Formats: sequence, C-alpha cells, structure tokens
Amino acid sequence: TPKISVFGIPFDNWTMKQLLDEVLQQCQHRAQPMQQYAFINADCLNISTKNESYRQCLKQTKHIFADGIGVRLACISKEKALQDNLNGTDMFPRLCQLAANNNLSIFMLGGAPDIAQSAADNMQQRYPKLKIAGCHHGYFDSESSSESINEENQDVIDTINQSNADILLVAMGAPKQELWLQANKQHLTCSIGIGVGGLFDFYAK
Ligand code: UDP
Repeated sequence: TPKISVFGIPFDNWTMKQLLDEVLQQCQHRAQPMQQYAFINADCLNISTKNESYRQCLKQTKHIFADGIGVRLACISKEKALQDNLNGTDMFPRLCQLAANNNLSIFMLGGAPDIAQSAADNMQQRYPKLKIAGCHHGYFDSESSSESINEENQDVIDTINQSNADILLVAMGAPKQELWLQANKQHLTCSIGIGVGGLFDFYAK
C-alpha cells in the first residue's frame, strides 16, 4: 500500500494485524539490519517541523504508524482515510501474545530504574509463555558521535545483543528513542526496534 505523506513524513496506512504480521515475518527471517518502526502523533509531527535530525530520522524509518486523532484529521484533509489508530499501548499486549505464541523474545529498554522490569513481570504473568529477554532503564549516557560509541552506550548495546532478543522496545520518549534507534541500529542484532514512548509506565502498575 502506498504511504501517506503528512508534513513530509511518510505514514504506512496499516491495520494492527498487518503490523503484527510484519513483525512476525521479519523476526522469522531474522531481518538485518534491524528494522525501525515508529508511532507518530501530532506532538511528534510538531517536533519534526523544528528538529531537522528528527525529521531526517523519520524519513529513513522503515515503518511509521499514525497515532491519534491529529494525524487522522491531517490524513482526512488529504482525502485519505486511515484504517486504524496505531499506538504502542494498544500494540503491547498483542505483541506479547504474538511473541509468546511464536517463541520470539522482547527486550525492554527505557523508563526509570525498575519500571521496565515491573512492566515485564506484569506481562509475564498475563502470558506465561512470554520470553522477556531483558530489561534496562533509559537513563544512560546515550550520546555517541559518528566515529565512536561511548562506553555506557556500548554496554547497553552489548546487553541487548547478548540477550538474543528478536524485538527491541525503546521507551525513552520522542524524539530521543527514534534518534537512539537510528544511531545504533547497525550495531543491534534484533530484527525489529520500535519506539514506544511512556509505554512501560502504563504497564508497570
Ligand atoms: N525516559 C527515559 N530516558 C530519558 C527520558 C525519558 O527512559 O532520558 C522515559 C521516561 O521515564 C518515560 C518515557 O521515557 O517512561 C517518556 O514518556 P513520555 O510519555 O514523555 O513520552 P512520549 O510518549 O510523550 O513520547
């Protein structure tokens, strides 16, 4: 299906089922380099108009999904109706179910210390077969230049790769999570990396 351009950002007009089917297929093919997905709402679009590196990052993101009424309205004004409202919060339980059923593992990066772990514990209770490959908070020094990766950032990458995760969820807020995924995707061995905003906070309770 052709992408819908909103403020120059190319959106995929997919359903949640199409998204999950694609995740499964790419993981089964062990896609490399890691494919990056993003959920973009009106706030993110607003940031993208002022932040050139974020805008460039989104243009190079494999799949972008429309999150919320603002983007939906922008698409209607182009006479193109979106099939679905897609966001990390709705995706997460379905992704966990998919992962549990197909023996895929998920790494959860982001949030304050212990938040990702308690969200992981909650989902593991709901889906006993679910494999959470690992968790890490989102408050490390993630600044790296193009020539060198700092030590703390490298440790996080090593932890993720050693976990053998298929899917990486990054919850560090926009634009940080998208920029981090883009800057590090060539070093990550997961098949799919998805920015999910404040997701772990919602599921940590
Ligand atoms: N966060 C993080 N590292 C940072 C800044 C933020 O891990 O350096 C986390 C924060 O703890 C929160 C999430 O990122 O869990 C941001 O949530 P927010 O709702 O602000 O993001 P949005 O969904 O609006 O992009």
